[in-house]
Amino acid sequence: MDNCVMPTYSRHDISFVDGRGAVLIDDQGREFLDFLSGIAVNALGHAHPRLTSELQDQLTKCVHVSNLFRHPYTEDVASGLCRHTDMASVFFTNSGSEAVECAMKLARKAMHLRGEPTRTSFVALEGAFHGRTLGALSLTHNERHRAPFQPLQPVTWVPVGDLAALEQQLQGRDHAALVIEPIQGEGGIRELPEVYLAAARKLCTETSTLLVHDEIQSGCGRTGKFLAAQHAGVTPDILTLAKPIAAGLPMGACLANAELAQVFAKGEHGSTFAGGPLACRAAMVFLDELEQGLLEQVQRRGNQLRAGLEQLQSELPIVRGVRGRGLMLGIQLAHSAPEVQQSLAAAGLLTNCTAGDVIRLLPPFVITSEQVELGVQRIRSVLADFPQPDAGDPK
Ligand code: PMP
Repeated sequence: MDNCVMPTYSRHDISFVDGRGAVLIDDQGREFLDFLSGIAVNALGHAHPRLTSELQDQLTKCVHVSNLFRHPYTEDVASGLCRHTDMASVFFTNSGSEAVECAMKLARKAMHLRGEPTRTSFVALEGAFHGRTLGALSLTHNERHRAPFQPLQPVTWVPVGDLAALEQQLQGRDHAALVIEPIQGEGGIRELPEVYLAAARKLCTETSTLLVHDEIQSGCGRTGKFLAAQHAGVTPDILTLAKPIAAGLPMGACLANAELAQVFAKGEHGSTFAGGPLACRAAMVFLDELEQGLLEQVQRRGNQLRAGLEQLQSELPIVRGVRGRGLMLGIQLAHSAPEVQQSLAAAGLLTNCTAGDVIRLLPPFVITSEQVELGVQRIRSVLADFPQPDAGDPK
């Protein structure tokens, strides 16, 4: 009855019914190695034993109580997130887009409190993806997604890495915030240079523009540190997280630094479901696993995967480059990526493509060394069957 579902997704004709660790099993019993984690969500893989038993226990207690009451898990997860990020307070959401909406409202309200209510616009980067709700869509660069929904919230775009353009925009002091993904995910696994992140931080401070880091895809340990921007030693004023935070249950978070922690007054933002006991129980398991050695595991498996892919680059001219950090990696190809991605799936490896020619790899944090090895072998044999450009072809 697929015609009862709005046609917003192009779905593959594979139906998954089971999984364990980094393996998914379809309704024909075929096993696939999962190098996608439901788009950076299933950090603990599938059917993680501790997650499963803690969630089963929670189901026998309470699933939802509403935000009219306190719940210990909500408070514990909030303090854990603040500890990992140097932020001071958290607003829980149910998705990444909602976390971005919250960040936008927070920045607008902060400007209002500062006596600068005309600073209502935002600066974002070309290639950015921040979601598809109206506010988040305003910050998403792809014109195809934006055009039918204009007019959107005013946003000015600057090219990635162009500090002069950024400086020119911020000097006017009329924007509420600059919004940045430290590694652009949907934009093709494009890492922003560390010097750019540091210079953007400095420019924001000098022009009293708020700095929002969207780490919905790059955060929560995926790059081997809790946040991708921690590799550059840069701290934003506002931070958005989501995807793996509750290990597969819907959860997002908007975090604010100490100066902004009390910006929202009662009733100025809210959510019926967000931060409930079931999702928070999952988030507690995820944060605890991260602290018990999973972060180091991401670093080791990330280094192993990158080394394997760089080896492929030296063997196969179709591989133009390897991008990203930790377990957030992209293979840039001299070929259109969707066709390659289909062949990888047929060979039992789940990936997806971004930005036309990039295969995106986002394996679960629990992936084993043998599975990384097997994944690289499958990529090698699939790519070797595609036409290889001459070594002399322009890269
Ligand atoms: N920001 C970034 C950086 C993302 O990668 C995504 C999702 N791909 C979003 C925002 C939107 O998150 P969601 O789909 O959970 O609303």
